[in-house]
Amino acid sequence: MTIYEKAKSLVTAREAAEHYGLKVNSHGMALCPFHDDHNPSMKVDERFHCFGCEEDGDVIDFTTKFFNLTLPEAAEKLAADFGDGAELSASPAPPKPPDPAERCHDVLLALEVQLHRQKRLTAPQSMDDPITTEYAQNCQMYDFIVGLADLLSGGIEQQKEDEVSYLTDGVLDRYERILQKEVIEYADIF
Ligand SMILES: [Zn+2]
Repeated sequence: MTIYEKAKSLVTAREAAEHYGLKVNSHGMALCPFHDDHNPSMKVDERFHCFGCEEDGDVIDFTTKFFNLTLPEAAEKLAADFGDGAELSASPAPPKPPDPAERCHDVLLALEVQLHRQKRLTAPQSMDDPITTEYAQNCQMYDFIVGLADLLSGGIEQQKEDEVSYLTDGVLDRYERILQKEVIEYADIF
């Protein structure tokens, strides 16, 4: 196991962010430390993504930027702050089986990012501009996906299990295909 794998296996971006002083709300959002943020616009989960300044990455990227470190320094800091102090084992642990909930998180976050971008690109430029169908649909799709993501990170255990089995029963495969497209259309989601 490399020091990077070790650091990532120890702690998620969210756990590190909270440990280093960020307040994360019930939607998994925090004030972004990388730009002048007044409304929480950084989503922190397994990874992090800021909808304001577009900073994005895993726990090591977060730590690198937050403390102004190099990548190896950040990985070592995480291992020191979250590890048990044991030397890196010479015999790597057997690989974890892929976690379906983690895949759901990743795909939903990628959709959220893309739909947020579409929303911004189609938003009315001033109060006098009409709201286009395209913008309204982008908003609806975005809200729907955010709702799914919220349920997954904040719902009760049974709801989460139900949602993971709903998503892994074909829906996620469809979402992954949609993500290959330039523009996500209403009929892709609904
Ligand atoms: Zn930001």
